[in-house]
Amino acid sequence: MNPFPYSDDNKRYHTYSYYLKHKYGCKVARVTLNGGFTCPNRDGTLSTGGCLFCSEEGSGEQIAFPEKSLEIQFDAGTKKLSKWKNTKYLAYLQSFSGTYADIDRLKTVYDKCLSLPNVYGLVIATRADCIDQACCQLLAEYADKTDLTIELGLQTIHDKTNKIMNRCEGFSEFERAVNLLKSVNIPIWTHLLNGLPYETHDMMVESAKVIGQMGINGVKIHTLYYLKNTHFAELYQNFAMDKDEYINTVCDQLEVLPSEIVIGRLTGDAPRDKLLAPLWTSRKRLVLNAIDTELVNRNSFQGKFAAL
Ligand code: SF4
Repeated sequence: MNPFPYSDDNKRYHTYSYYLKHKYGCKVARVTLNGGFTCPNRDGTLSTGGCLFCSEEGSGEQIAFPEKSLEIQFDAGTKKLSKWKNTKYLAYLQSFSGTYADIDRLKTVYDKCLSLPNVYGLVIATRADCIDQACCQLLAEYADKTDLTIELGLQTIHDKTNKIMNRCEGFSEFERAVNLLKSVNIPIWTHLLNGLPYETHDMMVESAKVIGQMGINGVKIHTLYYLKNTHFAELYQNFAMDKDEYINTVCDQLEVLPSEIVIGRLTGDAPRDKLLAPLWTSRKRLVLNAIDTELVNRNSFQGKFAAL
């Protein structure tokens, strides 16, 4: 018998599908859109190089027609999901920093997203340093009228890693943005990236433990991967995580994350044709099954050690 309370199946962690099913009572899908934003870590404001792990898509999924209108992107995105009937959608502004523009432009993009057919909510991915008072006030207005979630890319709480990765922001910016968003009750998700250069197992688990105590609503855990013919891979690919090490780390992280926190993902999503290392990341099902098995073998579940 599965002892984990937020599960209808064998999962011993709080899956996103469980959360959506219980919140909406029907199939809900996120449609990834490019709102035409950039990022202060790429446009020269802080740096032009970006975070070392950033992709051409601005750390977002590959989108069909990213340069076209939101309507065209949405149409292409929902066509892929057409086998599901009566689906509700969340517009997901994932690429680059979705709060990095003046207030009028933000309003235009957000309103357009919410006017798309069967869109019931908005998920905006951004950097912590792109949330200021004025932006937070605008987001609070949207949170009053729709289902809004802000995703802040943290990756690690350790600033020495942030420096190596050219993040050009640190954990204190994240704390400040979290406090600001929480003061107006906006749900916050974040990302953790395992396998960052020079990070030990204990550092990765500490990152999970700290964010678990901050009142965050959801977490996505990824593996750092390396792509062929990139300078980043040349420099750091020897840090690529071993599969067993990754599974052990993720289970340790789940154990310290409170059970109420929704787990958005537990694997990376590297483009297979470009993936150099770690190659096991392309076998997502195998990784997820191994995490399930490890939790059963430990007789454990998400949150088991969260309060300790
Ligand atoms: S903050 Fe995000 S979009 Fe900007 S450079 Fe870093 S990963 Fe890329």
